[in-house]
Amino acid sequence: MTIRAGLVGLGKIARDQHLPAIARTDGIELVAVASRNAQEEGLNNYPDLDAMLAGEADMDAVILCQPPQVRYQAARQAILAGKHVFLEKPPGATVSEVEALIALAGAQGVTLYASWHSRHAAAVAQAKAWMASRAIRRIDIQWREDVRHWHPGQPWIWEAGGFGVFDPGINALSILTEIVPEPVTMLSARLEVPENKDAPIGAALSMATASGAAVEALFDWRQTGPQTWDIAVETANGSLLLSEGGNTLRLDGEVQIKAPDEEYPAMYRRFVGLVADRAIDADIAPLRLVADAFLCGRHCPTTAFDD
Ligand code: NAP
Repeated sequence: MTIRAGLVGLGKIARDQHLPAIARTDGIELVAVASRNAQEEGLNNYPDLDAMLAGEADMDAVILCQPPQVRYQAARQAILAGKHVFLEKPPGATVSEVEALIALAGAQGVTLYASWHSRHAAAVAQAKAWMASRAIRRIDIQWREDVRHWHPGQPWIWEAGGFGVFDPGINALSILTEIVPEPVTMLSARLEVPENKDAPIGAALSMATASGAAVEALFDWRQTGPQTWDIAVETANGSLLLSEGGNTLRLDGEVQIKAPDEEYPAMYRRFVGLVADRAIDADIAPLRLVADAFLCGRHCPTTAFDD
């Protein structure tokens, strides 16, 4: 069976990644789009999810690519209509929303996929396997990028529930919680919030693995020039460096993997498999760490930022 899917929120990530990835994936076909502002040639276009659900009775799945603040009600509506749901990351604006969706999808017998694209970066699976048998001593995360380059014209990202620098930072936390074979807890956090914004532009997080290894993370949205998405791990038996957001792997300084970004096609293959089994894949571990950083973090005002 080919999954007949409709997509909501025709913005940057929908156009950059979802449309091309769906076109390349066997077992799923995009039939409709719901957008307040845009239209896509060759598909059935609707102004919103209500109209799409009404107009596409035989649609099997809904892909939600809007900002996190508005995704919960849309996901509820789609699940209650009996549709399988693919959520962009982060899966919700709050932990309680995502837990409610998991319960609802279970009760309705439909798939809920809370996608974490960085977990599908080329080197993550090998990093996880390498770390599984080693004693971790320390982990350092540097996630520094230029918000003006990556998020132009996205006011939602600076508003409450938009995550600020945790929008990219949660990608690092999704890799961290995938490759570390034990729970990671948040100890303290420092959140730098521009005086004209609601969400942080920088964050310094102190975490620990259950067996006591320090995990330090720096997220910064003010980095111009070369961008940095690195996770460095020291163990009792060697060191690991994941860079390029998880697409390059070095072990003891030697490059093992350096591959192009194929994260979204991998996620769609996963979604097709989940729908076949009517299974739920919705790990909230990365979102829980972000929530904990906001719970225990010191909120430090910083100079106004114009994006
Ligand atoms: P975006 O370009 O701002 O697009 C989001 C789309 O959602 C908008 O084009 C709009 O679509 C709809 N939307 C915006 N505000 C809305 C609102 N208040 N109510 C209802 N719909 C609204 O953002 P994006 O970069 O695509 O990011 C969307 C999600 O994808 C975020 O959760 C982000 O973390 C995730 N993501 C983004 C990237 C990236 O590189 N940008 C990478 C990975 C994941 P319509 O005009 O069609 O209604």
